[in-house]
Amino acid sequence: MSEPIIRLLDQQTIDKIAAGEVVERPASVVKELVENSIDAGASIISIEIEDGGLKSIRISDNGKGIGKEDIRTAFLRHATSKLRSAEELSSIYTLGFRGEALSSISAVSMIELMTKTPDEMLGYHYVFEGGRELEFSEMGVPDGTTIFVRNIFYNTPARKKFLKSAMTEGSYIADVVERLALSHPEIAFRFISDKREKLHTLGTARLLDAIYQIYGREISSQLLELNIDADFFTVRGYIGKPIINRGNRAYQSFFVENRYIKSKLISQAIEEGYQGYIMGHQYPLAILFFSFDSEIVDVNVHPSKMEVRFEREREIFDILKKEVALRLNRREDINSVEIKVQPDISVNPVSAEDETKPENEPVNERGFEPFEEKALSQAQDKAEPAELETKYEQITFMTPEAIKHHRIIGQAFDTYWIVEYDEKLYIIDQHAAHEKVLYEETMRSFYDRQMTSQLISPGILLSLNEQEILILNELMPTLESIGFEIEYFGQKEYIVNAVPGNMYHLDPKSMLMELLDTYEKKGSVDKLEMIVDKVATISCKAAIKGNNRYSYAEMDELLGKLFLLDNPYHCPHGRPTMISFSKYELEKNFMRIV
Ligand code: ADP
Ligand code: MG
Repeated sequence: MSEPIIRLLDQQTIDKIAAGEVVERPASVVKELVENSIDAGASIISIEIEDGGLKSIRISDNGKGIGKEDIRTAFLRHATSKLRSAEELSSIYTLGFRGEALSSISAVSMIELMTKTPDEMLGYHYVFEGGRELEFSEMGVPDGTTIFVRNIFYNTPARKKFLKSAMTEGSYIADVVERLALSHPEIAFRFISDKREKLHTLGTARLLDAIYQIYGREISSQLLELNIDADFFTVRGYIGKPIINRGNRAYQSFFVENRYIKSKLISQAIEEGYQGYIMGHQYPLAILFFSFDSEIVDVNVHPSKMEVRFEREREIFDILKKEVALRLNRREDINSVEIKVQPDISVNPVSAEDETKPENEPVNERGFEPFEEKALSQAQDKAEPAELETKYEQITFMTPEAIKHHRIIGQAFDTYWIVEYDEKLYIIDQHAAHEKVLYEETMRSFYDRQMTSQLISPGILLSLNEQEILILNELMPTLESIGFEIEYFGQKEYIVNAVPGNMYHLDPKSMLMELLDTYEKKGSVDKLEMIVDKVATISCKAAIKGNNRYSYAEMDELLGKLFLLDNPYHCPHGRPTMISFSKYELEKNFMRIV
C-alpha cells in the first residue's frame, strides 16, 4: 500500500493563502484598517507609518472600540459584526463585511491591538503573532482602537519580494489615505510618515475644506461644483477647471455611497465631457460622490479591488458627459477656462488610441530610440507599407540644389503650404515642420550645454501630490543641471524660481506638471536624455501653438532650416511633415492620360 499523498492544509497555511487576496501590500493594510475605523464611527483617525509601512503601520481611532468578548473572534476568518446573512449583502453600506481583514493581516504580520469601549472601565491589550496569541491583558487606554502592525510579510518572503521601495509603498499609502480622507470630510485624518506629518484634514464635513487640506490652495481654487439630479442617480462634488488638467488620473476620485471605487465608465464619460478643453494626454480633476438607486449598482463585485458593476451604463455615460460639458460651458466660467491652455490639437499626433489605455500605463510613452527609427516605425504603422516606400524613393526635394528650384505656391487652410518642385506638388504641414526644426534646435542647445537659467518673478507655485513630490525630488538634480531652480515651499508646495533660458514661449508650470505626471522609470535610461527630450517636445509644441499665419518669407526660412536636418520628413513624433502629389497623378485624375 502506498502512502496517501493528499493532505489537508493546516489552518495557518490556509490563512496565509487567503491573506494574499486581501493584503497585497502595506497600502491594503492601511485601507482595511482605516475602513474599520470609519465603520466604528470614529471622528478622528490617525495613520502613522515607518519605512513606507514595511516596518510598521499604526492606526488609531476614537470609535466604538471592541468589547472583551469580541476581541478573539474579530481575528477569526469570516468573523464580522457587520453582516448576519446572505440576504443582507445587497443592502450593505458599511465598508468591510467579509470579516477577513484582521485575520488576513494577522496571518502575514505581527499585530498588536489596544482597544476600549466607552462603557468599560479598562481596555485590553492583545498581541497576535505567527498565528498564536501572545498576550491578552487589561490595559488603561482611551476609548477607541489602536492597531499596530509590524513586519508585514515577515513569514511570506515570496510576497515580500514583490513589494517596491519604501518610498513607493509609502506613496501608495498616501494615495489611499487621501482618498479615504476625501470620502469622509467629516472625519479628521492625520497621516504621518517617518515622523513627518504628510496630511491633516480637520473633519469640518465640508468637501471643499478636505480638498483644500489635501491638494492645497491652488487646486481648490480652480474647481467647479457639479451637481446632477438624474432620475435614478445623483452626483455631488467638483470637477477641475481645464487649467489644472493633469497627465494622469491621479486627481480623479469617485465614490459610490461614500466608498472609493474605480470606474472606466465614469472616467471616460467625464473626459468626453471635457472634449475641446483637453489634450490627448491630459485628464481632468474630478472628485464626485454618486448615489444610485440600489438596483442600479452592485458594489460587491470585488470589494478589495474597488470594482463596481452598473446597470443602465449607456444612460449613465450620456448624462455624465452632457452635464460635465454643460458645466464647463457655463457663461460665468468662460474667463477662467483660459484659452491659453487650449491645446493645439493639430500638433498632437497621438489621440484616439491613447484614450483606451489602462489608467496605470504611462500616457506618454515616447521612448528613447533615435527618433528617426521611431518616426519611421510609427509612420509605417499608419501608412500602407508600399505607399511609404514610394514616398521615400521619390523625395529628393530637400537637397540644397532642389531648394533653389522650389516654387512656393501658397498656404491652404491656414496650415498647409503648397510647393511645386520637379513635376510634383509638395504639401507641407507648417506646424509639424516648425516643431521639427525647433525640437532639433532645442535638443542641440541642451547637448551643447548652452542652457542658461532665466529667473522668473514672481516664482511659480506648484501644488503636488505625494507621487509627484517623489518624482520631482528624483529629477531635481537633472532639472537643475538644465537651468531650473525649484525650491521647497512648505506642505506639498514647491516654487519654481528659474527656468531654462531658451524656453521663451513656455508655460513652465504646465510643462513641469506634464513632466512629473508622465515620468516613468525606464530602467537604465538616462534621466537627462529623457528630460531633455520631453522638455524639448513640450517646448516646441508650446512655441508654435496658435501661430497660423506664416508669411512666404517665414515659410521659406523654415524650409531652409528643415533641409539641414537628418530626417526632415517627420516631426519628432513620427508624423509626416510633408506629403507629395505627382503631376502624373493629377493628370490621371483629370483623365488627361490613361
Ligand atoms: P469586517 O470589517 O469585514 O467585519 P474585519 O476583519 O475587518 O472584518 O474586522 C472584524 C470585526 O472586528 C469587525 O466586524 C468589527 O466588529 C471589529 N473591528 C475591527 N476593527 C475595529 C475598530 N477599529 N473599531 C471597532 N471595531 C473593530
Ligand atoms: Mg474590515
